[in-house]
Amino acid sequence: MSVAGDDRLSGGIPPGEEGFRSGFVAILGRPNVGKSTLVNHLVGRKVSIVSDHPQTTRRRITGVVTLPACQIVLLDLPGFQRPFDSLTRRMQNAVDDALREVDATLVMLNATEPFGGGDRYVLEAVGAAGLPGVIVLNKIDLLDGRRLGARLEEARGLAGGAAVHAVSALRGDGLGRVVDDLAAAMAPGPRYFPEGQSSDQPLELLVAELVREQALRRTREEVPHAIAVEVGSITERTDRPLVEIEAFLIVESESQKAIVVGKGGRVVKAIGSAARGEIETVFGVQVFLDLRVKVRRRWRRDERYVERLL
Ligand code: GDP
Ligand code: MG
Repeated sequence: MSVAGDDRLSGGIPPGEEGFRSGFVAILGRPNVGKSTLVNHLVGRKVSIVSDHPQTTRRRITGVVTLPACQIVLLDLPGFQRPFDSLTRRMQNAVDDALREVDATLVMLNATEPFGGGDRYVLEAVGAAGLPGVIVLNKIDLLDGRRLGARLEEARGLAGGAAVHAVSALRGDGLGRVVDDLAAAMAPGPRYFPEGQSSDQPLELLVAELVREQALRRTREEVPHAIAVEVGSITERTDRPLVEIEAFLIVESESQKAIVVGKGGRVVKAIGSAARGEIETVFGVQVFLDLRVKVRRRWRRDERYVERLL
């Protein structure tokens, strides 16, 4: 092809092979519907953290699904939220930005909870953007056949009659047809990521997310929302196969610090040791994790600090 090697036409990305299709897909839905679980299942590697706490995903995380003639780049976005503090405003901006940048959307609904204003808002925003999209009803593994039928009808009503796929992101049920529909929505385009690369996250972000996932699992009520993770350094030892990581759990008050540290350091030790295991699995090498707890008052209302974390 004549455009081969012409960076002005492809933005520095090598043009795709003849007939190759690609595009970016925003994954949208209320917190906790299973967006990260879906991305992880489709990508086949842990790229996005999963937890029972809403608002776990604060960053746009890219997962890449590469098929023989098609590449689907997934952006796992935070749920739509009413502005609440600088953090959620920031999340909402990320969603608005993404709708402007993507080629298709995937809207996820939760089969186990009543649909609400948030779901309607997502579907309306996507409809207004005029993008091709897939609508999925998730967590069907938790329903019997009769309830599932009723929920599907209800979801179709909410979706204005558009096709709704019933899936279990956790088990992987029904995902084949979802990938087929997404692939059909892709336009001729380049292979954005080389084969084998499933995420564009810098290492620091991945480590921070893995630590945060473990911290969220071991805290409750308001504490999970007050936790951020800063990664100070990641150093690869040259004398033996070992990676040394220095990281900080950031909380907003001394009382939260006491909870996260725990009696005799029990909680922070448990977080650190579980996170170390996860990081070792991803890195495939032994890891030493030095994890400490720091107070940074009202960090969620500090726009500049939140910006730095994102
Ligand atoms: P997100 O906030 O939309 O990214 O949701 P997550 O992917 O973090 O999932 C939230 C919770 O729902 C986690 O506990 C998941 O294990 C759970 N979950 C996600 N998908 C399914 C599913 O298909 N079935 C069941 N039973 N649980 C699911
Ligand atoms: Mg998520």
